[in-house]
Amino acid sequence: MNCNYFKLSEQYLFAEVSKKIRERVGAINLSVGDVRLPLPPSVVEAGVRAAKELGCGATFKGYPPEAGYDFFLQAVVGYYDGRVKFKESEVFVSDGIKSELSAFLSVFKGKIVLSSPTYPAYIETNTILGNEIIYSDCPPSEHVDLVLLCSPANPTGEILTKEQLCGWVEYCRREKAILIFDAAYEAFSSGIRSIFEIDGARECAVEFCSLSKTAGFTGVRCGYTVICNENPLNAVWRRVKACLDNGVSYITQRMAECALTGAIDKIKANIRYYQENGSILAKALSVPYNGSPYIWYRAGENAFERLLNDYSVGVTPGVGFGKAGRDYVRINSFCFRSEAVEAAKRLKSFSEVNKNFQKILS
Ligand code: PLP
Repeated sequence: MNCNYFKLSEQYLFAEVSKKIRERVGAINLSVGDVRLPLPPSVVEAGVRAAKELGCGATFKGYPPEAGYDFFLQAVVGYYDGRVKFKESEVFVSDGIKSELSAFLSVFKGKIVLSSPTYPAYIETNTILGNEIIYSDCPPSEHVDLVLLCSPANPTGEILTKEQLCGWVEYCRREKAILIFDAAYEAFSSGIRSIFEIDGARECAVEFCSLSKTAGFTGVRCGYTVICNENPLNAVWRRVKACLDNGVSYITQRMAECALTGAIDKIKANIRYYQENGSILAKALSVPYNGSPYIWYRAGENAFERLLNDYSVGVTPGVGFGKAGRDYVRINSFCFRSEAVEAAKRLKSFSEVNKNFQKILS
């Protein structure tokens, strides 16, 4: 057995928090970052059509190509809409970032730098794999083998600037480190959406993308990874993928193709819906809003309990994302409008009471 397993905390943060929120009758859950809006009808129809094809001898399909069907790879290239130019040979289909990232890290191991606070799965995956983790929000003075960036970030919603990203690309090129860019929330970004918008990234970066938050696919499971042909890891990953998994189902890839092409306007409208929720929530708390699905709010110690017990709003305690999150909570905008409006009222009352605390802190 891999004994690193014993280094994990007993229960995964989100499960623990969800349980407490579920037990609180009438609570609005703004904790777990899961989408709420249904898939566009055309995406569902694409899935039904694909399933029917599999039921017919002339169109039946077995194992999919490991890197993805051509129609899917073309849809991904088109989705970038000229912002960054790729070839289909630079894209690999996946069933989402979480599993793809852990597969990638199980092959490319070493010392890794993470920001703090950070997405707990990064810490847990690297812990299981035995990677040494250091925390830094800027390129460190020491050598690392891997840099893991996420923008817009979970949990802080921070969008890394072009200057910050250029600094990281420069560092990775100098140190011959792999730059892993988690673009799970790229569709919510008002700034740089792809690491390949940065000069020099094609040689050192690997971009992990997902339709989970972009297109409401958290339940369907589909994503993709981009590694440019200039990067030797493209060939390595193609070889490794062939032994690690057997691709992603035809049905899923047809649904994803539709989401990224024919249904793209509906997908973008859904993102705007969540962003309007975010804007309502941020306004109630009197904090600036940048379009990210997460609001990182300095609410003071035990704020998770106070918000849940006194205001019936379920959030995620910041400490779950690392010590740097101790006084914070993460509030997410993946909810229905009626919930955002009601939660905003409750959060406004909370923030009035909390103002004095904020003053003491600042
Ligand atoms: N990366 C980040 C930063 C996330 O917050 C999440 C999910 O919450 C994921 C990756 C997981 O994405 P997927 O659903 O594609 O596995």
